[in-house]
Amino acid sequence: MLRQYELVDLVKSYDENADEDALNRAYVFAMKKHGAQLRASGDPYYSHPVEVAGILTQFKLDCASVIAGLLHDTVEDTDTTVEEIRGLFGDQVAQLVDGLTKLAMIEQKSTDKKQAENFRKLLLAMSEDIRVLLIKLADRLHNMRTLHFLKSPEKRARIAKETLDIYAPLAERIGMQEIKTELEDIAFKELHRDAYDSIQARLNFLREQGSNIVPKIISQLEKDMKENGIKAEVSGREKSPYSIWRKMQQKNASFEQLSDIMAFRIIVDDVGACYQALGIVHSKYHMIPRRFKDYISTPKPNGYKSIHTGVIGPENTRIEIQIRTHEMHEVAEKGVAAHWAYKQGEKVVGKNFRWIRELLEILEQASNPEEFLENTKLEMYNDQVFCFTPKGDLIGLPINSTPVDFAYAVHSSVGDTCVGAKINGEIRPLRTVLQNGDQVEILTSKAQHPSTEWDRFVVTGKAKAAIRRYVRAHKRDQFITLGEQLLERTFKSENLDFNEKALVNVFPNFEAESIDDIYAKVGEGLITAWDVMKAVYPAYKQSKLEKVVKSIVPSFTGKKNKSKSEPLKIKGLIPGMAVHFAGCCHPLPGDRIVGIVTTGKGVAVHRIDCKLLEKFANEPERWLDISWGDDASETPHVGRLKVMLANEPGALGELSNLIARSNGNIANLNIINRTLSYFEIMIDVEVKDLRHLTDIIATLKSSKVVSYVDRSA
Ligand code: MN
Repeated sequence: MLRQYELVDLVKSYDENADEDALNRAYVFAMKKHGAQLRASGDPYYSHPVEVAGILTQFKLDCASVIAGLLHDTVEDTDTTVEEIRGLFGDQVAQLVDGLTKLAMIEQKSTDKKQAENFRKLLLAMSEDIRVLLIKLADRLHNMRTLHFLKSPEKRARIAKETLDIYAPLAERIGMQEIKTELEDIAFKELHRDAYDSIQARLNFLREQGSNIVPKIISQLEKDMKENGIKAEVSGREKSPYSIWRKMQQKNASFEQLSDIMAFRIIVDDVGACYQALGIVHSKYHMIPRRFKDYISTPKPNGYKSIHTGVIGPENTRIEIQIRTHEMHEVAEKGVAAHWAYKQGEKVVGKNFRWIRELLEILEQASNPEEFLENTKLEMYNDQVFCFTPKGDLIGLPINSTPVDFAYAVHSSVGDTCVGAKINGEIRPLRTVLQNGDQVEILTSKAQHPSTEWDRFVVTGKAKAAIRRYVRAHKRDQFITLGEQLLERTFKSENLDFNEKALVNVFPNFEAESIDDIYAKVGEGLITAWDVMKAVYPAYKQSKLEKVVKSIVPSFTGKKNKSKSEPLKIKGLIPGMAVHFAGCCHPLPGDRIVGIVTTGKGVAVHRIDCKLLEKFANEPERWLDISWGDDASETPHVGRLKVMLANEPGALGELSNLIARSNGNIANLNIINRTLSYFEIMIDVEVKDLRHLTDIIATLKSSKVVSYVDRSA
């Protein structure tokens, strides 16, 4: 285990300005806090954070990261709080430790491949500061190095699998080849011990047989370069057991069939030298077809640059050769961390990491590395949130998504029937904005249907499309029913014969292709029943209009209803759909009502004495005789009251008590005017019907705090 002064020396070797005092304090703090806790290895627990800090110095990470590495398990595993760390080590370290603690809380439950991808994204999204991720990887690396100490085979396997699925690809994603390879090999050894052993045995056999073939090839390649005036460092190695195994799987090949068990690297000063070196290799040795790749002209998505080629090399051995510059090499091995190392050496490198381009831009604008580190918020996945299903599956959604979006993402049938949601175990409104890592359980009911209300807050295209599709389909159904009734009534009132055959002849007049089209258009108010009637019976005389108006809306003209036609039975009074209540007059069951066909919105229900109706006096074809169904008072309706209330303590309380005791529910309350002695208030009350409202009015009138109350239009 690294000693305190050794760690400090390591940090100071690349960062002269490191806060030596803080490093020392953090080392002691971790030691004290973890106290007598032991690792599975039998070592004191604090050896783990110390080793993690040591790994971070190999990445040449800044002092705050190394301190956070020392403290990374204190909040999770001891009584330490983030505030305590903030007080002792400052905001930056506290934030890093907080980020790491949060990452430790989320646990991957599903073993599905696609889920692993989402989980990686979740880790990235939650690691707002990329240093959190680097410390996490160092943490995982040390845990893998000590994996064999764990007694439970199931636990070892789970951690190894998680490492292969999540952390090794993450390391690759941020370009840290070294860590990726080590993580993979340890995991592979744990998960496929037999395969690992047999590959290892074959490698050993080759090594003995070839009697140090690697050094021979290295020195030959060095000679080749020198003879041609190229300054180069040549190194060689066997490929890692895991990458050999992967190749065997991918190519369905046996160990013997693999051509490139050994890989060599030629590292040169600049890009020009790369291609010169390539020329030397290809002119001297036979190239193996289809093994040449130029990742310098076309870098990998993670920014990796190198030339790869396969040749029959020195000693007549099939080998792979990678040719790259020192900078490319550093970036390939250390990834993001290398950028910092280079910045500190005033050598800004490659801008080809597409996904960290933003980081690099900050890097270039920042006047010093500290400022850069403070500003490195990981922007990659900040447009997405990732939430768990109760089974532990991860669902990725756009930012600002709600439980309804989540429900539709799970399945459209779940979305269509969702009535509520539990977020992290608590019932929350459907419009709640989801956060990263939330566990969401959707409550469903077969009686539920998509609501137009949802359309106001959902953000995913899938949810929006499903809601609109449903509403559109059902609106049209309602429009068709309504249109048919309207037409029938209009024809009947004129003593004209109504049959569908007659309508077929007038399709072209209305750009209709079916009877339903005609009905829907009439129901929606795009055309009127009168238009259709006039088209079917061109001889129809305008003069009958007045009589018709009277027969449809007799009460409006002050006469008793003599029409034999039944009032329309309109059910499912859903706002925004084919029938809705007008906001101007708040009709209640018990009120005489009239329907007005409005363009595009179906029928608006008004009180017969609503002032707005005057507007439609000259359009009798829009008027509909409607009345309340028998069950209308079973659902609450909103009535509006105007109240003058004494301006004295407790008056408002008294008012709401009286309404509540009368089983009324205040839906809204607006103070319109306020004088020294009175409040003038508008109250919307949910009531069963007109009678209920009248009762409430009477009750209020009996109170001494109410000086005036009446129904308001
Ligand atoms: Mn740890």
